[in-house]
Amino acid sequence: MSSTYDAIVIGAGHNGLTAASYLAKSGLKTLIVERREIVGGCCVTEEIAPGCRASTTSYIASMLRPEVIRDLELASHGLRMVPCDPYLQVPFLDGHLLPWWADQERMIGELRRISPADANTFARVDADLKKLARYLQPYFLEPPPDLRATGFHRLTEMGRVARRMRQISGPEIERMISFLTGSLGDFLDRNYESEKIKTLILANNVYGKHGGPYQPGTAIGLLFHLLSGGEQELQGFYGNVIGGMGAITQAMAAAARKFGAEIRISSPVAKVIVMNRCATGVVLEDGTEFKASVVVSNADPKRTFLTLVDLKELPPDFVQAIQGIKMDGPCAKVNMVLGEEPKFIGTPADATPGQRSLFTLVPSLEFAERCYDIAKHGEIPEQLWVDCVVASHIDRTLAPEGKHIMTCFVQYVPYKLRNGNWDQNRELLGDRVVRKIAEYAPNVPGAILARQVLTPLDLERTYGLTEGNIFHGDLTLDQLFSWRPVPGWSQYRSPIRGLYLCGAGAHPGGGVTGAPGHNAARQVLRDRKRRIA
Ligand SMILES: Cc1cc2nc3c(=O)[nH]c(=O)nc-3n(C[C@H](O)[C@H](O)[C@H](O)COP(=O)(O)OP(=O)(O)OC[C@H]3O[C@@H](n4cnc5c(N)ncnc54)[C@H](O)[C@@H]3O)c2cc1C
Repeated sequence: MSSTYDAIVIGAGHNGLTAASYLAKSGLKTLIVERREIVGGCCVTEEIAPGCRASTTSYIASMLRPEVIRDLELASHGLRMVPCDPYLQVPFLDGHLLPWWADQERMIGELRRISPADANTFARVDADLKKLARYLQPYFLEPPPDLRATGFHRLTEMGRVARRMRQISGPEIERMISFLTGSLGDFLDRNYESEKIKTLILANNVYGKHGGPYQPGTAIGLLFHLLSGGEQELQGFYGNVIGGMGAITQAMAAAARKFGAEIRISSPVAKVIVMNRCATGVVLEDGTEFKASVVVSNADPKRTFLTLVDLKELPPDFVQAIQGIKMDGPCAKVNMVLGEEPKFIGTPADATPGQRSLFTLVPSLEFAERCYDIAKHGEIPEQLWVDCVVASHIDRTLAPEGKHIMTCFVQYVPYKLRNGNWDQNRELLGDRVVRKIAEYAPNVPGAILARQVLTPLDLERTYGLTEGNIFHGDLTLDQLFSWRPVPGWSQYRSPIRGLYLCGAGAHPGGGVTGAPGHNAARQVLRDRKRRIA
């Protein structure tokens, strides 16, 4: 096989696979090199005990772009998503289980039983947020405004923003800015009276965030979660993937191969080869070299520029900006095989499989804020926020009859511990998670047959996420849009000609969306047309 390609993609995460598929589909001879023995990055299904498979890292598909699903024909490669209904549920220790129904009327009816005033507010705010999210939506599949454009390009960039925002009114701009910059906690306290309803909205909106709910910028999740997703382009879509999240990346890998891309697993890249400030290929850790004039990195920005590129090839201010990206922690994951169904308090006797599968354990805004405060000082909180998904209720292929798969996303934990290290504290974290779950589902501790604890350090070591950050960089306003990954470099290019970024560290950011991969490939193809790549 020839070792010269038109394009090489470093990493077979879902964004690398998406980028490679679009490049191959456009006729480029494309190679994907992945360090792990499986494709998928942090969108994978892995065996955690004999015969028992789990979505070890990401576990719910919410914002996967419908365009990517269609263009890559993922359904024809086996992708099947079952919408979550409810989207999520919060159990309270008084025995009340509060669901967030997919159907708006049903949801408002549910809230009305707790607070008629809050139910009305919810309906009003939801409609408002959905409208605002629609203004942001088009930016997801195109580069953010290029604030450093000059000359004619500056005019076209200004025209693009004006076109997208021409219908937004003054009051809507005011509200948009307040959602982008304000804190979720303050917003909820200002608008809602019921602590339970505030907690339900919290549970849906600070996912994976580096910051307690009262930190400025946390209200942004309200908008992000209303971007449409899934095949039907539903706003606020949440889906269970049959076969686990790995079914998405298996379908993407099949699409990439069908379009002609070649995938090499167990092939860690050691360096990007650079000559005269141009990328000319990659060299693997075993010394194998592959040549291409386009190298697209799916690795996060710190890993890409601080470890795969010789620093002397990069401008010092760029290196400094990359070093400054905030991305430590703050999440972990505990995956379990259970010998019996977990019985969470408040679950009705006639609950559907959907109602028996989603439980977010966070009792209040204050609890979440305290939990973050402890973690930010390098300690593992005694009391953790845990998001449990019993995926085997929806997908019986994951475990043999009688066994259940429960994945538990944990927030907040530090990347750097003040005392000791994560190798010494892995099981302590697992024990604290089990203890928290036992408060709501007392039968769980006795039902555990297998347990896998993924600390931030494990996320870094196994999945290649620098500092364990699940989004390749925090999703804060100063690290989003034209500021992602760093100011001046939001157009997927880098100071090295022909070297691009296509992962979650690029616009529009993390989550299983396929958007950065799609946008980066489009940029490569545009540049090739203009002969600058
Ligand atoms: C615990 C956890 C839970 C999450 N939950 C959800 C969720 O429920 N829903 C959701 O939408 N999102 C979730 N996310 C976030 C989401 O999974 C990620 O933001 C997204 O998958 C990132 O995709 P990516 O393709 O950009 O990068 P990655 O998936 O990180 O892929 C990068 C790839 O590059 C490879 N690589 C790195 N360096 C090299 C090298 N030197 N040589 C070769 N290959 C290399 C890596 O091995 C990896 O395969 C979660 C993430 C985690 C970790």
